[in-house]
Amino acid sequence: MTSDSLQQTLKQYFGYDSFRAGQREIIEAHLAGRDTLAIMPTGGGKSICFQLPALLKDGVTIVVSPLIALMQDQVTALKENGIGATFLNSTLSVREANLRSQAVLDGVIKLTYVAPERLFAQQFIEFLKIVNQKIGIAGFAIDEAHCVSEWGHDFRPEYRQLRQIRQLYPDVPVIGLTATATERVREDISQQLGMYQPYIHVASFNRTNLYYEVIPKQGTEQSYLNLLQQIKRMQGSGIVYCLSRKRVTEIAERLREDGIAAIPYHAGLSAKEREENQTRWIRDDVQVMVATIAFGMGINKPDVRFVIHYDLPRNIEGYYQESGRAGRDGEDSHCTLFLGYQDLETIKYLIAQKVDPHSNEPLEAEQRIAYQQLRQVVDYAEGVTCRRAILLRYFGENFHGNCRNCDNCLTPKPMEDWTVESQKFLSCVARTKERFGAGHIIDVLRGSRKEKVLQHQHDQLSTYGIGKDRSLDEWRQLSRSLLHQGYLTQTTDGYAILKLNDRSWEVMRGQRNVLLPIERDTEPATVVERETSESPVDVEILFKRLRLLRKNLADGQEVPPYVIFSNATLNQMAEQQPTTRKDFAKLSGVGAKKLEQYADDFIAIILEHHLQYPPAEPTASVNSRVKPESVTPKAKISKVSTQRETLAMYENGLDIDEIARDRGLKPATVWTHLTQLLESGYAINIDRLVSPERQNVIYEALEVIGGDSLRNLFDHLREEYTYDEIKVVRAIWQNENEPL
Ligand code: ADP
Ligand code: ZN
Repeated sequence: MTSDSLQQTLKQYFGYDSFRAGQREIIEAHLAGRDTLAIMPTGGGKSICFQLPALLKDGVTIVVSPLIALMQDQVTALKENGIGATFLNSTLSVREANLRSQAVLDGVIKLTYVAPERLFAQQFIEFLKIVNQKIGIAGFAIDEAHCVSEWGHDFRPEYRQLRQIRQLYPDVPVIGLTATATERVREDISQQLGMYQPYIHVASFNRTNLYYEVIPKQGTEQSYLNLLQQIKRMQGSGIVYCLSRKRVTEIAERLREDGIAAIPYHAGLSAKEREENQTRWIRDDVQVMVATIAFGMGINKPDVRFVIHYDLPRNIEGYYQESGRAGRDGEDSHCTLFLGYQDLETIKYLIAQKVDPHSNEPLEAEQRIAYQQLRQVVDYAEGVTCRRAILLRYFGENFHGNCRNCDNCLTPKPMEDWTVESQKFLSCVARTKERFGAGHIIDVLRGSRKEKVLQHQHDQLSTYGIGKDRSLDEWRQLSRSLLHQGYLTQTTDGYAILKLNDRSWEVMRGQRNVLLPIERDTEPATVVERETSESPVDVEILFKRLRLLRKNLADGQEVPPYVIFSNATLNQMAEQQPTTRKDFAKLSGVGAKKLEQYADDFIAIILEHHLQYPPAEPTASVNSRVKPESVTPKAKISKVSTQRETLAMYENGLDIDEIARDRGLKPATVWTHLTQLLESGYAINIDRLVSPERQNVIYEALEVIGGDSLRNLFDHLREEYTYDEIKVVRAIWQNENEPL
C-alpha cells in the first residue's frame, strides 16, 4: 500500500486531506500485521487508526468497545461515510442479532463492534470461528484499552478475558487504543493483551485548541453570576460540572430561569431521564448539560465548546480528562475552573469520610493520596505560570514557554529573578536528604523552632534560618513554582516528599535562572477577553443557515447534527462558499458518500445566500459553470429557507417590522417564522420580541394551565398579552417540558 493510496482512502471515506500526527505510522504498522498501541488524547483521532485499515483489509475487523452508546455513535458515523459497520450487544432482539450476524458472514460488513463480555460467550466464539473460515478476521481493535489495567481509573474485569484473543487467534494483529497517559497503564495494556513486540505511539497530550483559565469564587451569589456571565459569552454546547446532585439540580434550574437552555444529569435521575437528557444535549436541542462527573465517559460529541468546573475536581488527571471533553473537533474551546475555598473544605470532609467498608477504620493511605491529589488541583488553580505547562508536566511532558492560550499566558504577571532564593530552597532539600515535604523545608529556611525541626537537628544545618527575609506565602509560592516549572519533583504516595532532579542541580550550579511571576493582587478576577478572529457578517449568517439545514437533516434521520458534518466542515463551507459539487468535494470532512448525499442541499443554501450577499469576488470561473439543473433544492428546504432568511435578519438585529418591510411580508408572517423555528428546537433569544418580565408572566401561566389552548392562555393573561407573544414563549416552554 503506497502512502498515496492511504491518503486517497482517507479522503474518499472520511473526507480528510491529510493525516494527523501519528495516524499514518499507526495505520501502517497495523496494516503490516504488527500489534499496535495507540495512546492519544481525546480528540486525537484514534478511531481512524483502526477504521481505515479495516477498509483496506480483507475480512472483518472486530472492535471491542465498553459502552453501548459509543458503539452506536461510531456505527452511525461509519454508515454516514458509506462504510459497512454494525454492532452486536445485549440491546438487540434475537432476530436483529441474527440478521446482523448474517450480514457479517455475507461480507458486507467491514467493522463489527462487540462488548467484551459478549466476545467470549460460547455462541460468539463459535460464530467467530465460522467468520474466520468464511471471510477472515482482519484484526482486533480494543477501544478504551486502559480498562484492562487495574492501575487505570476505569478497570473492567471483563477486559481481562481479552487475553484469550491472542490464544485463539495468534496471527491476527491487535490494536489497542486509549487516552490514558500513565506509563504503568501502558505497560500493563501490552502485557495483559499478550501483545507481541507492539509498535507503540504516544502522542503529545497538549490540546492546543483548549483555552485554560481559572476564576476565583466570590460568595455564592456572585459566583453564580460569574458562571452565568461566562456561559452567556460562550457559543455552542457546553458542560458544567458540579460536585453533588443537589448542586446540579440547583444550578440547572437557575440557569433555565436565566434563559439558558440547561438540563441536569446525575446518578439520581432514572436511566430513562438520563438517556433523554443526554440525547437532547447531543442533538443540540439544549445547550448546556449541568452534571456530576457521572456524565461524560463515552460521550463522543465532538463540538463541545466549553467545559466549566463549577466545583473543584478531585485530581488533575480527572480534570484533564473532563475538561478534555471540549474541542474534540479541534476547534477553539474553553476550559474554566472555578476555585472556591469553601468547596475545598467540602472535598476534604468527604475524603475524611473514606473508611474501610469492613472494619470501618479510616483508609489512611487512600486518604493521604486523595489529599495530595487535591493539593495538586489547588496548586494548579493557584498557579501563576502557564496552565498548559502545569497540566502537561503532570503527564511527564516538558512543555516550555508561553502557550498564548491560557489566562496566565495572556495576562502574564511581571517576572522577578528568584534564582538565589531557589538555590537556598533546593540546597535545603538536599541538606535534609530529600526526605521532607515543602512545609518542613520552609520551616527550616525560616528558622522555625518547631519540634520536628529540632528533633531532626535541622537547626544545625547551614540553610537554617537563611530565608527569614521572605514570608511564608512567598516561599510557598516559590516551591509551587519550582514544581510547576520542573525544577523539583515530589512523590505521589500522599506524603509529597520533595526530590531533586537534573534541573534542580542546574539551578544550584548556577546554570539556570529561575523566574517567578509576581502573585497578582487580590482584585476580583477579570474575565480575559480572547482575541477572536471576527468573521465577516455574511459568513456568519451563512454559517447559521447551514447549521439550521444541518439540524433539520439530522432531526429527519434522528442522528446528532455532527454526524452530518462537523463544525469545522461547516465553518469551511461558510467561508469558501462552494457552489459546485467539485468544489464542495474539496472541503475537509466531505467524502464520497456525503458528497452524494448532502452536497446539493447545502449548495442550494449557499446559492440562495448569494442572492442576498453576492460573493465578494465572484470567481467567475467557478460560478459560470453552475447550471441551474445541477442543483436540485428540495421543496422542503425552500420552505424552511424562508424561515431562515427571517432568522438571519432577526439575529442581525432587525426587528419584526423592519424584517417584514425588507422582505415584503406581513409582520404576522415574520412572527410565524420565528415561532416555527423555535418549535423545531432552534435556540433563538426572544428577549427582543417579548421582554423578560413579560416572558416570566407567560411562563407562569403555562406552568399553571399548560400549553394546550392558546385561547385559555390568552384569557388567563387577561388579554394583556398578544397571541404572538404567547406563541413564542410557549414554543420554548414546550421544548423544555416535552421529551424528544
Ligand atoms: P478520539 O477517539 O481520539 O477521541 P476521534 O477518532 O473521535 O478521536 O476523532 C476526533 C475528531 O477528529 C473527529 O471529529 C474526527 O473525525 C476528526 N479527525 C480524525 N482524524 C482526522 C484527520 N486526519 N483530519 C481531520 N480530522 C480528523
Ligand atoms: Zn499558557
